[in-house]
Amino acid sequence: MGIACERCRDRLGDYVEGLALPEERAEIDAHLATCAPCREVLAGYRRLPALLSRALRPPGRSRPARK
Ligand SMILES: [Zn+2]
Repeated sequence: MGIACERCRDRLGDYVEGLALPEERAEIDAHLATCAPCREVLAGYRRLPALLSRALRPPGRSRPARK
């Protein structure tokens, strides 16, 4: 089994923006290959205008220090 949908979706924002770590991208790619609902979520992210996507994030490429 791969990662859970919840974990996958938590990472999709970073994935779409190219901010996910290589191992996270690999996990997400593997999950998306087997999970149509998460592919739909990904498609939704990609339909967002780039400006909106950027507006939701602070400037800079650093990752938020969440726990
Ligand atoms: Zn999923």
